[in-house]
Amino acid sequence: MNQKASSADKTGEQHEFQAEVSKLLHLMVHSVYSEKEVFLRELISNGSDACDKLRYEALTKPDLIDGDQNFKIVITVNKKKRLIHVADNGIGMDRQELIDNLGTIARSGTSTFVEQLSGDEAKDAQLIGRFGVGFYSTFMVADKVDVASRTIGSDEVYHWASDGAGAFAISQVEDATDLLDGRGTRVSLHIRKGDDDYLDPVRLRGIVKNYSDHIAIPIFVVDENDKEAASDAPVNSASALWMRAKSDITDDQYTEFYHHVGHVFDEPWMRIHYKAEGRNEYNVLLFVPSSQPLDLFDPKRATRVKLYVQRVFITEDAELLPSYLRFVRGVVDSEDMPLNMSREMLQNNPIVHRIRNAVTKRVLNELKKKADKKPEDFEKFWSVFGAVLKEGIYEDFERREQLLDMARFRSTKGEGWRTLKDYMADMAENQTAIYYIHGEDAAAIAKSPQLEGYLARNIEVLLLTDPVDAFWTAAVPEYDGKPIKSVSRGTADLDTIAKKATDKESDKESHKKDDGVRDAAIGTLIALFKQTLGDDIADVRRSDRLTESPVCLVAAEGSVDAYLERVLAASQGGAEEATDPMKSRILEINPDHALIRSLAAKISADGARSELEDAAYLLLDHARIIEGAPVIDPAAYTRRLASMMEKGLSL
Ligand code: ADP
Repeated sequence: MNQKASSADKTGEQHEFQAEVSKLLHLMVHSVYSEKEVFLRELISNGSDACDKLRYEALTKPDLIDGDQNFKIVITVNKKKRLIHVADNGIGMDRQELIDNLGTIARSGTSTFVEQLSGDEAKDAQLIGRFGVGFYSTFMVADKVDVASRTIGSDEVYHWASDGAGAFAISQVEDATDLLDGRGTRVSLHIRKGDDDYLDPVRLRGIVKNYSDHIAIPIFVVDENDKEAASDAPVNSASALWMRAKSDITDDQYTEFYHHVGHVFDEPWMRIHYKAEGRNEYNVLLFVPSSQPLDLFDPKRATRVKLYVQRVFITEDAELLPSYLRFVRGVVDSEDMPLNMSREMLQNNPIVHRIRNAVTKRVLNELKKKADKKPEDFEKFWSVFGAVLKEGIYEDFERREQLLDMARFRSTKGEGWRTLKDYMADMAENQTAIYYIHGEDAAAIAKSPQLEGYLARNIEVLLLTDPVDAFWTAAVPEYDGKPIKSVSRGTADLDTIAKKATDKESDKESHKKDDGVRDAAIGTLIALFKQTLGDDIADVRRSDRLTESPVCLVAAEGSVDAYLERVLAASQGGAEEATDPMKSRILEINPDHALIRSLAAKISADGARSELEDAAYLLLDHARIIEGAPVIDPAAYTRRLASMMEKGLSL
């Protein structure tokens, strides 16, 4: 068969690898990654998945396996021939699947992984460790790889061969005698010089034990050069890890299982392992990763928890958790769901519904426990997954309060994370609302003019910087009886709250004298501004939220914030570009600002009108610039600015 195989790859049809695969293979061939033995973990993982798939197919078509449940993986090593075979009797691959699966990047996150490769060997090696690279990792130890496979239900056996340099060959082979039970897949590795230690059966058994003990089907290691030594015992425990008692599972075994089941290769941040009993019986083993999986912001927002029924893998698409928990990896294995249910029927299955509810509740409870008992650890989790969890605040009405309780925020109070409870506990006297501001960058929005009046009164403002914040704040009117309000929308309601003691009382006194006169002048100035600016602005009014700046823009009560407007426009691909959202804003002016006072003082002076009109436009542009919006008419803006400066200097 090997002879047939090697003649086949010369005569077989040649296929080029997809460019990303070539890049990946180049990296594998020249890898400086120190844990090359992971190739075996990847092959075993694939073999086990292939057996899972066939087991499911055989539920409805038992003749596919002749009623024989004897799924296994056999690793055969031949030191003399420098060969390792890894064979499974799983579902197998047909010709096209060999070309697609072993010629392109099959997994969604892997393309992102390839994009991240830098060409710096040491850095790239670290990335290999983080992401795992599946089948292609075989080229870290082999200078040639052959694959023979027969897909279930077909008599044809196909052969794939490559030396990892740009192309692979596909050919048909005559019989399936080399395959386990005549079906499934056999991967043969021609071990490269220098990697001889992988030809040692003892070493291979050690690797299987280390990385793949959790695999639920038996794995055998056979030494072809020493048939006497053959042992019938599998190397691994060969039982579903989630069914074992917690006390029988080591941390390393849990972690290896997590890598296999989740296709992610970091350390899990938390694990949840329990058996539910009562109306429904099922076992749960879930993990929360410590870093973001590559597909976290994939638009499908698919959840990844695998559904098993009595140890039979059914599907990864049962949506056992809501989308906002899509980072969770693991398994739920039901004891009482019917085995012969089609994947389509799962959608409306009441047991799946109950499991989803109960498991979601459990995950959130475990997160809450962490938040209560180990707040610092929880903050680490929050900084990685908080943006995803916040989707639940507007999607999952039932658990909204719970998610809001758990949520952490940056705020004007300082560096650390704050909860809404922390916020409530520190509210100023007479403060009636929870305030926030939106923007891309916390440091930048912390300097927004809209915040001034709040900071002067020692009122904390939450600094929201995730796009998702725009959505949940729009959907959630209040928390614990207090309205949640944007500082850049509606009126500021700050009259009843005292400013900080640093306020200069003497200043106030001197202002008081001419209050009446000035008030009237400011009223006229506002009317003039309104008339001048016309449709460029929705309204002009006095502000009590400004202390340092002369002007700012705010949204009208009941309309959307500037930030939400930008997020929406971006998500609609800029369809809204035609209308300038800033034109629906209100220009607020600070009556206590020296500039505004000087302008107001000029109101009745002869010939001041055109100057005041220029000031109105300049101040509007000023407020737009701070918001990150363009000036309305750059030529007019520079002309007015130059003219004002000139007048200022000539005074
Ligand atoms: P991954 O396993 O992460 O998807 P791989 O590169 O290891 O990535 O494999 C790509 C695909 O090839 C798998 O998703 C699977 O469809 C197929 N495959 C690999 N090995 C086997 C096997 N032993 N039996 C059947 N299919 C396999």
